[in-house]
Amino acid sequence: MFTSISGRSVLVTGGTKGIGKGLAASFAAEGASVVIVGRDRDAGGRAAAELAPYGKVAFEQGDVASAASCAAVVAAAQERHGGLDIVCCNAGVFPSAPLAEMTPEQLEEVLATNLKGTFFTVQAALPALKRSGRGRVIVTSSITGPITGYSGWSHYGASKAGQLGFMRSAALELARSQITINAILPGNIITEGLTDLGPDYLQAMEAAIPLGRLGSIEEVASAALFLATEEAAYITGQTLVIDGGQTVPESLEAMG
Ligand code: NAP
Repeated sequence: MFTSISGRSVLVTGGTKGIGKGLAASFAAEGASVVIVGRDRDAGGRAAAELAPYGKVAFEQGDVASAASCAAVVAAAQERHGGLDIVCCNAGVFPSAPLAEMTPEQLEEVLATNLKGTFFTVQAALPALKRSGRGRVIVTSSITGPITGYSGWSHYGASKAGQLGFMRSAALELARSQITINAILPGNIITEGLTDLGPDYLQAMEAAIPLGRLGSIEEVASAALFLATEEAAYITGQTLVIDGGQTVPESLEAMG
């Protein structure tokens, strides 16, 4: 199997719900020391308590749309766990807004959280990741934007494709410091955020997935864990799609 990541210090933005919470559970279960970040203090406290049985998990309140806030949570994670080895840039929002009606504020909210938040988090973590000597960054992008499109999510798709543009150049800048940066591209994964999109959305998605079901947060976490192992040390600037085959068929008929 893979070399243990026990003892590594991990930061998961958006770790209080959904995919991020699953990432935190998986890293903690492998013996890593995890700090989860979110804006809602109550939700964060509850998530840390729920994650406690998995291992070492602490909550720090923060907003990735603010560079100062990212610096503060990174400092807190280092202080708590004596450094920082793995950063999961996972915090994201996906409110729908048709292009014709999208306000500058709606556009800014999505870009500030999903795209600028990734920049700010990685920038803040860089000195610590360099000191680690085996730094890992795992970005939660999406199939939406990099591979597919969806009406009402042009801002979201742009933010998720933008994360990959960021990742590829960052991979080159960070390589000499032995820091890798890769992206996971989930399809439709059952989370609080996805469930909020309603039963019609969920049903339509299920019908479009060759494996016949939505994905689980554990299935996304397994891919992220792999990218954090010693065995993935030679992989950087790459993407890993976790979508039950959703992006493969040309049409529903093509699924047979
Ligand atoms: P979710 O259930 O809504 O959880 C989102 C998490 O991000 C929460 O912990 C939330 O906490 C945090 N967050 C949101 N804005 C933040 C901010 N400005 N600063 C800090 N934390 C913030 O969402 P999810 O479905 O797990 O999605 C997580 C990531 O996966 C996102 O990047 C999303 O784009 C991506 N993704 C999800 C799917 C899917 O099917 N679920 C598919 C593809 C990609 P607070 O609200 O308390 O801040």
